[in-house]
Amino acid sequence: MSNYEPVIGLEIHIQLKTKSKLFCASPNSFNVESPNTNICEICTGQPGTLPRLNAEALRKAIMVGLALNCETAKITKFDRKNYFYPDLPKGYQISQFDMPINGKGKVMVGNREIGITRAHLEEDAGKLLHELPGSDLKSSQRSDPRMTYVDFNRAGVPLLEVVTEPDFKSPEEAGLFLRQLRSIVRYLDASMADMEKGHLRVDANVSVRKIGETKLPDYKVEVKNMNSFKAVEAALSYEIERQTELLEKGEKPIDETRGFVDHTKTTVSQRTKEAAHDYRYFPEPDLPPIAITDDFIQELRIALPELPQAKAKRFIKEYDLPESDVWQIVDDKSFANYFENVASELGAWFEADNISVEKYKKSLKSLANWLTGDFLAMLNRDGKTANESGLSPENFAELIKLIEQGVISNTAGKSVLTEMYATGGDPSDIVDRQNLGQVSDEGLIEGVIDKVLAANQEVVEKYKAGKTGVLGALVGEVMKQTDGRANPQLVNEILKTKLD
Ligand code: ADP
Ligand code: MG
Repeated sequence: MSNYEPVIGLEIHIQLKTKSKLFCASPNSFNVESPNTNICEICTGQPGTLPRLNAEALRKAIMVGLALNCETAKITKFDRKNYFYPDLPKGYQISQFDMPINGKGKVMVGNREIGITRAHLEEDAGKLLHELPGSDLKSSQRSDPRMTYVDFNRAGVPLLEVVTEPDFKSPEEAGLFLRQLRSIVRYLDASMADMEKGHLRVDANVSVRKIGETKLPDYKVEVKNMNSFKAVEAALSYEIERQTELLEKGEKPIDETRGFVDHTKTTVSQRTKEAAHDYRYFPEPDLPPIAITDDFIQELRIALPELPQAKAKRFIKEYDLPESDVWQIVDDKSFANYFENVASELGAWFEADNISVEKYKKSLKSLANWLTGDFLAMLNRDGKTANESGLSPENFAELIKLIEQGVISNTAGKSVLTEMYATGGDPSDIVDRQNLGQVSDEGLIEGVIDKVLAANQEVVEKYKAGKTGVLGALVGEVMKQTDGRANPQLVNEILKTKLD
């Protein structure tokens, strides 16, 4: 065991989902196939133009802040962050320095509290391209080693930068927080939050100290270029190991920015502290400070939906489901709604038929398994939501009913689900059409069993000699003879009676 522990803090840029950009009316969407189409004088920094704040971006920023229990600023303002970069047309970025829209907050991650330092608004920069987009171009026409191209479609897109305190104690904990954050912003419809598409970009800060030390290390390493949560965790793990090794040798890691290399799962130095920028922040003179009234905050607070954590707590209580299933179900709001719709169908059925609470609970557990297993896999494969699947909650509930009543086996359930997913069909119809119904006719099963026993005399002898383990082989043979449709419980019972 190592005597060292990591200290981790995250900075996350979240692209906000709005119709137009942060300070102009250009569309907030960028299609790489058609660069420089969603731009105007303002987001390309033409002289004499003036920015105007997008109210929707401000609302969404505050709502995310409220969800992270941040204090909303009474007065907020924008500042210029000066630096030169070819995809930054104005030569500065409009950001927020000392009066961010969201101040200190906190969230529970597992059973530990993580501090939020701030969450402020800023504009995104454009993008440099080393290859011309356009599928109509031949590859020789597409790139020229002497050229770099610039696409300003992303310039001015609203970002919310969330900064956490250095409170995480492991890569997994940081990963858990990120998944929670993604879920929250999606619940609020504040961002698509797809990391691979760059809607959510994570910079991970990490240092290592002796266990028992309470002071923060006097250095930190910032890691960039991760395009998935898994990559963030891998980058942090690699850094922790690298820094621990240095410290164990009596060396001190240096303050630097490193880039994650996906195919080697390592990090490489990009720049050291000496090259750090001096941004010369100063208040943006073209945008007045904004006073946020209590009424406005209250209005937004009321508009907050039930958030993932609250929903998870309620599901555990209300449906008596295991926590791991619940987190998978509540991660996506529409999936959670779908679950509740099916559960309510099941509830109505149980009430109408006067079926015991135990059976109802068992059917909910079965529902959770089917939803988070086969169904979720199909949705993920096709990039669809549950509602888009065309499989109605009524039909899903009926499928669970058929399985729970023993009308069809689990195996048959899988093929019914696949067919329902493909055609939106009614499960009972599919069962009839495909002849999948479970056979519970004792006479019929007995007939098959007699044949199987007659054909497998040696196995029967073994059983009678005390090797009761061979029963499984006989059950298997009966199932085979009935195309898997015989009720396995009945098969077992009848077989045992006959043999004993
Ligand atoms: P900077 O001024 O270099 O941007 P900040 O103090 O603003 O540094 O912190 C940036 C991020 O780094 C925050 O997420 C913070 O939690 C994290 N951080 C600060 N100190 C450390 C440290 N010693 N180890 C790991 N992370 C740290
Ligand atoms: Mg910083």
